[in-house]
Amino acid sequence: MRAEGVETARRILCVFPRYTSSFGTWEYAYPLTDGIKAFMPPQGLLVIAAYLPPDWQVRFVDENLRAATEEEFEWAEAVFVSGMHIQRQQMNDICHRAHAYDLPVAIGGPSVSACPDYYPSFDYLHIGELGDATDELIARLSRDTRRPDEQIVLTTKDRVDMCDFPIPAYELADTKKYLLSSVQYSSGCPYQCEFCDIPGLYGRNPRLKTPQQIIAELDRMRECGIGDTVYFVDDNFIGNRKAALDLLPHLIEWQKRTGYITRLACEATLNIAKRPEILEKMREAFFVTIFCGIETPDPDALKAMHKDHNMMVPILEGVRTINSYGMEVVSGIIMGLDTDKPETGEALLAFIEESKIPLLTINLLQALPKTPLWDRLERENRLIHDEGRDSNVDFLLPYDQVLASWRKCMEIAYQPERLYARFQYQCDFTYANKLKVPASTQQASWANIRRGLIMLRKIFWKVGVLSDYRKVFWKFALGRLRRGDLEGLIGPALIAHHLIMFARAASVGQQNASNYSLRLREASVPAE
Ligand code: SF4
Repeated sequence: MRAEGVETARRILCVFPRYTSSFGTWEYAYPLTDGIKAFMPPQGLLVIAAYLPPDWQVRFVDENLRAATEEEFEWAEAVFVSGMHIQRQQMNDICHRAHAYDLPVAIGGPSVSACPDYYPSFDYLHIGELGDATDELIARLSRDTRRPDEQIVLTTKDRVDMCDFPIPAYELADTKKYLLSSVQYSSGCPYQCEFCDIPGLYGRNPRLKTPQQIIAELDRMRECGIGDTVYFVDDNFIGNRKAALDLLPHLIEWQKRTGYITRLACEATLNIAKRPEILEKMREAFFVTIFCGIETPDPDALKAMHKDHNMMVPILEGVRTINSYGMEVVSGIIMGLDTDKPETGEALLAFIEESKIPLLTINLLQALPKTPLWDRLERENRLIHDEGRDSNVDFLLPYDQVLASWRKCMEIAYQPERLYARFQYQCDFTYANKLKVPASTQQASWANIRRGLIMLRKIFWKVGVLSDYRKVFWKFALGRLRRGDLEGLIGPALIAHHLIMFARAASVGQQNASNYSLRLREASVPAE
């Protein structure tokens, strides 16, 4: 670790900002669980926490679980914050609260790295990845924890090799309160989809950890009590296919050693369907979900956004191929593209029916800074800086028409009958192809059984008795119960409840049409 040997040990409070309600925050599902309150522990901030000199004291607060307290701000000598654009208001709010205690506040992560001007109040801006800027920040704080007179911008020029990344400080996180856990093997993506900021921020040549590092991280997660489902947050799991193939045998061995109690998930491009040698090994490693940015079923639109790689196999065939290896596809979808027509919504709904994908994140196009899309729209004078709008893009179709089409798609796609029919398909044609894993003592442990029973009781009461879609639920649930498939009942019931409730709110304008929009965000600040 490069940050050793600094003069004075400090007390650092790492605060992760709250997310505003969105499709991916799952808050409608949490009341059906045994106390889960947030999606995933934040990798970036926990890596920074682990990177700090060993004699520095670190506390970590995820404001998705609870707000940082007065006592914690009084204890700290400096505050670190990290997050994405969608957490911008919350990050600025944490900064103001820390300044009330006269603490210096540093911000790092993807949002500030792309848009430093979003964060004028912070004392230190950490731009870029873990590297010489991090060392400089640590050295400065070691010398002096007074707030500097002017904002100091530190930019990483020399990145820490991912092989030298520390294991994230999972021990600081309240691990039982998360739906999933995350791990990162690679960073960057070789493609250049017009709307995506990953290649601009993290490069086109994926950087890698070693398989041994990943196994050590997975072991540490298990020691810290995390691990039912671990999500590879790599921008594209097959961005470097050879690296994926190098890692998979290690994951298979790890699963055999630990009894297959961890389901794995990842993000990958749809052309993974052309790689049976990778899919077969992923099945053996107990991958059960792949998030694919399908974006649109319209070939002209894929071409226009430079996502031609999605057409290397016909999309529906690609989805079926992945399903045949026991992996469910989750899909990202974008509406409001320049190629959209008045009938795009209808075509999208037809695609959803045909693909049988239960979970699709349907968003309005939003131009992110540092993307080719942003540059093009800026040239065309089509960027709209109005935070009251659901997107910053001046669509070619009328804005109200695009928004109405999004709402209609949300309403129809997530009608309980349609959604549960798609889950039923997954039970019959995808989950049935999953690796048959041996029963382990941990799976049959009292803690696990108790957890399952708590969730079942809540699902039966809140969905099976109180909800207005209980008939649809019971039709699906009885089928699962008859087969003794409790896992196949609990997972879909949790996800479906969130999707149904979120989509209902969205279809009447109570949720944003873009995960990046700032509209409706005010109410979520500050954290409860
Ligand atoms: S394939 Fe995915 S990660 Fe890569 S550039 Fe396209 S959208 Fe971004």
